[in-house]
Amino acid sequence: MRPTASALPSESQPEPLIGVLDLQGDVREHMRALGDVGCAVRRVKHPTELDDVDGLVLPGGESTTLSMLLESMGLFEAIAQILGSEAAPTAGAGSGSASGALPLFGTCAGLILVAREVLDGRPDQRTFGILDAVVRRNGYGRQAQSFEAELVLGSGEGPLLPTVFIRAPRVVSAGPEVEVLASLDEVPVLVRQGTVLASSFHPELTPDRRVHRLFAEMCRAEAQTRTRAAGHGQTDAPAATAGGLFG
Ligand code: GLN
Repeated sequence: MRPTASALPSESQPEPLIGVLDLQGDVREHMRALGDVGCAVRRVKHPTELDDVDGLVLPGGESTTLSMLLESMGLFEAIAQILGSEAAPTAGAGSGSASGALPLFGTCAGLILVAREVLDGRPDQRTFGILDAVVRRNGYGRQAQSFEAELVLGSGEGPLLPTVFIRAPRVVSAGPEVEVLASLDEVPVLVRQGTVLASSFHPELTPDRRVHRLFAEMCRAEAQTRTRAAGHGQTDAPAATAGGLFG
């Protein structure tokens, strides 16, 4: 369904086409950040706009509202179908398997939308259930609904990452397949499971582009994998390793 990127080294490859869910939140900021790291970008408001995208960003906002809007626009089913996941009918009932080949990047409310289980959510809010994690909505409490923090990324060789948390979800637990790329007070705040990347914070609101760059590389690598699977590729896709990008 999505097309094929040529199997050239990643620097000389065509830019991946990344969709940004355009229902609520920092859509423009995500688009700018993705443009900065060499991606073509498309707003996604309707299911047909998912055609041919190499990855999808789920911006923050209000996860309950996003869940409702996703359903009413027909996007929830369309995305779930692409992911090949058993979309969770209600919060807390996700499948928990990162089976989809469409890379997804969920920020803040977007993290809630990919999680397997949501605490303190609305009973009817839905998630894609592709990140094996339990998250608590507004889990950083009233006192600290919004705050800034500087995080150590990956192996910690690069500079600290400036981040903004806004009524952020807190990761309560994560399964063994979830890779923790950054933590705050020993709680994971940037995680990856296969083709799913998710953050409690808003990387689009600070000028540091390392997190968006990692997602762009995940999308490039996945596009190359599809190309090879379709029998067109000639060379190996470079793996998007967080270490190399964050260092
Ligand atoms: N508190 C919001 C929610 O529960 C998330 C906030 C955000 O995305 N900045 O969905």
